[in-house]
Amino acid sequence: MLDSYRHKGMRRKLIETLREKGIRDERVLQVMGEIPRHLFLEGAFEKQAYEDKPFPIGASQTISQPFTVAYQTELLQVEKRQKILEIGTGSGYQAAVLALIGGRVFTVERQETLFVSAQKMLARLGLQRIRCFLRDGYKGLPEFAPFDRILVTAGASEIPPALLDQLAIGGRLVIPVGVEDQIMYCVERLEDGSFKEEKLDTFRFVPFLKGLNRN
Ligand code: SAH
Repeated sequence: MLDSYRHKGMRRKLIETLREKGIRDERVLQVMGEIPRHLFLEGAFEKQAYEDKPFPIGASQTISQPFTVAYQTELLQVEKRQKILEIGTGSGYQAAVLALIGGRVFTVERQETLFVSAQKMLARLGLQRIRCFLRDGYKGLPEFAPFDRILVTAGASEIPPALLDQLAIGGRLVIPVGVEDQIMYCVERLEDGSFKEEKLDTFRFVPFLKGLNRN
C-alpha cells in the first residue's frame, strides 16, 4: 500500500483546513498536499492520518499536528538550496516537507528506533538525499555548520547555545521554548552576528531531551 485516490482526496481536505486556519504560503500547502502522511503513522492511525491532529509514532513520541508543521515551515521561510538543520526527526514527515520545498536537509534524532524507521521511510519515498543522524540535537551538527535555517520540533526549556552558534548570518531559527507549553520563537541572525528574537503563538510539543536513547 502506497498512495491512493482516497488518500489524495483526504489530503485535499486537510489542505483546505490548513488554509482556513491561516496558513498562506502556497509552497507549504502544495508540498503538504503531495506527501503521503499516512505512511508516517503506525498502522492503527492510518485512517485518521489526514485529520489535523498529532499521533503516536512509538517511543512515546508523536508526529506533529499538520497545522504545527505548516506553521513552523511557513515561519522558517525556506529558499531553494538552503542548508536546513531539523532537530527531532521523529517520523520523518517534517523533514520530507522541508526537502520538497527545496532545502538541503540534515535531521537529527536521539531515539534510535525512530531514527531507523524514519530513515527507511524517507528512502522508500525516494528522499534518501535527506541526511539522518542519530545524535543529541542539543549539540546541533557542528561539522556541517553553518545552517541557513534551523528548526526544532520538540519543546525546549531554553535555546541551546550550540544552535545559535551554528546559525549562518542572515539565518533563521524556529524553536518552541517552554516547559508545560511552549512559545514559538523565531530568531534571526543579523549582519553583525547578533540575534533578533520574535515571540509568536503558544503550542504544546513533546519535550526536548538530552542525551541519546538506544533501544
Ligand atoms: N518532526 C517530527 C516530530 C517529532 S516529535 C515529525 O515530523 O514527526 C519530536 C522529536 O524530537 C521526537 O522524536 C524526540 O525523540 C526528538 N527529540 C527530543 N529531544 C531531542 C534531542 N535532544 N535531540 C534529537 N532529537 C530529540
